[in-house]
Amino acid sequence: MLKTILHKIGEILQRPFRESFLFLIAFFFLATSPYFFWHPMYVQGFNIYILYLAIHCFVLSYLVTLLVCLIKPGKVRKIVQGALIVLAALLFAVNFYCNFALDFLFDADIAMLILGTDIHETKEFASVMLPKWIILAVLGIYLFFVILWLISRQHHLNLGKKASWVALGVLCLCTALSIRNWRAWEDGPLKLIDELSNIESSDDLKSYYTHPDITIIDKSQMPANVVLIIGESFARVHSSLYGYNKPTNPDLGSYRDSSMLFTFDDIDAPAPTTAQSLRFMLSAYAQKDDTDSNKKKWFEYTSLIELMQDCGFECCWFSNQARGNKHNSTARAFAEVCNKHWFLQQEGSDRYNVTSDMVLVDSSYQFVNHLQPQGHHFFIYHMMGSHYDFSMRYPKEFAKFNENDYPTEPQSHRALLASYDNSILYNDYVVCQIINLFKDKEAIVIYVPDHGQVMYRDPKDPDYYAHGKMNDKVRYSLGVEIPFMIYASPLYQEKHPETMERIKYRQDHPKAWNSDDLPYLIMDLIGVKEVNGEDVKLKSVLD
Ligand SMILES: [Zn+2]
Repeated sequence: MLKTILHKIGEILQRPFRESFLFLIAFFFLATSPYFFWHPMYVQGFNIYILYLAIHCFVLSYLVTLLVCLIKPGKVRKIVQGALIVLAALLFAVNFYCNFALDFLFDADIAMLILGTDIHETKEFASVMLPKWIILAVLGIYLFFVILWLISRQHHLNLGKKASWVALGVLCLCTALSIRNWRAWEDGPLKLIDELSNIESSDDLKSYYTHPDITIIDKSQMPANVVLIIGESFARVHSSLYGYNKPTNPDLGSYRDSSMLFTFDDIDAPAPTTAQSLRFMLSAYAQKDDTDSNKKKWFEYTSLIELMQDCGFECCWFSNQARGNKHNSTARAFAEVCNKHWFLQQEGSDRYNVTSDMVLVDSSYQFVNHLQPQGHHFFIYHMMGSHYDFSMRYPKEFAKFNENDYPTEPQSHRALLASYDNSILYNDYVVCQIINLFKDKEAIVIYVPDHGQVMYRDPKDPDYYAHGKMNDKVRYSLGVEIPFMIYASPLYQEKHPETMERIKYRQDHPKAWNSDDLPYLIMDLIGVKEVNGEDVKLKSVLD
């Protein structure tokens, strides 16, 4: 009796192999392969976790096929099968394009871009960035499956009885492995369904827009491109631009030597941690407003994004930091009020936090090169920079410093110091690559990290190297010392000689300034005179 029941169950479970094997394979390949094969391989090379993702995708495809097999009558089953394959084929094409042209997979951002009101711009974006080989490759793969399908109509491509039992055994093993590595379910294609069903309205900060009164000196003089590069955990004392004894900033140094880049000394970040610092730097919310008695929240203040949009700038946010969720990410709140935003780091898994900052350059390269020549653009690049773990922030080629380079430091500090300096060196390279995207345009580029890093300089705790602390005076002041620099392209320099004089003067005559007032500096740089009747120069570092 039990044997017959088990046999019956076995037969039902074998149906995907014996009746819809081609569907199973096609679904596995078209709908799920981007998630375990190209994209993770493309981003981080082969590793064992990719196998787990593949196993998870196989189990998922099997479950879908099994459900389809159970549909009755046969006609409905065929319609459902056809519809699923068409959807899988479309997802495949979109993923193929996103991966090979843009370096990321189809996600809620792209869906929003497509679904959003910006349909014209979406088309434009796709048309300039759709290489012909991608169309041909996708069509070729479609053709392959069509041929297989035609063959299957003559000769069944299903597995036989014995092979199906073997396949069922393999499937059980895969299911066990998949359950053991539960995490894979969060990184696979199910993540997309979860994301799409959670698309939230992105106008949170927008509902707090303050509609400031802005006085512009001469609109025709506004620069075409303003670029803000937000770095991560960069302690000024580790920069060769500021006298550090190791060559951590060779590329930026040569820009400074040729008077394209200007560095300012005596600049502090408004807070020693990322979220706090961004709130201050990217809005009119200031340190003095951060009191218990002030009931007005940070997001009720005018944001830099709103100011730029009011001045006619299209705002684009490229991030290699985690998107976070609605409740824990300040960066996300700012990014989502930008006209466009991309979170390029693979999320959901710590295994992916190794996405190199070069993804920012690779992903925006095409976009920046196909800008409307008459428009004004504000780009924000949010880097992973020197975020801990430092040793994961740079590729092997940039491991220039090693323990032996720190003979006067305690032995236990040397490896970490070396990896920190290597991350600064790689940061130097990436920042220059971002700058290079704009060197032939009229552009002004500001680089400012969110905060510094203590790096073993706290005398009462010489082993402490992490972020500064809000409630510890010494660690606070060490943690907010940051480098600050402005790059001006030749076209910008030619068009704005007066501003250039002020920038050069400030480089040679440092003034204590806090990047809390960043919005006023940017307003000053683009030729705004007043915001709500307040002279922006009073808070700009240039005056
Ligand atoms: Zn940070």
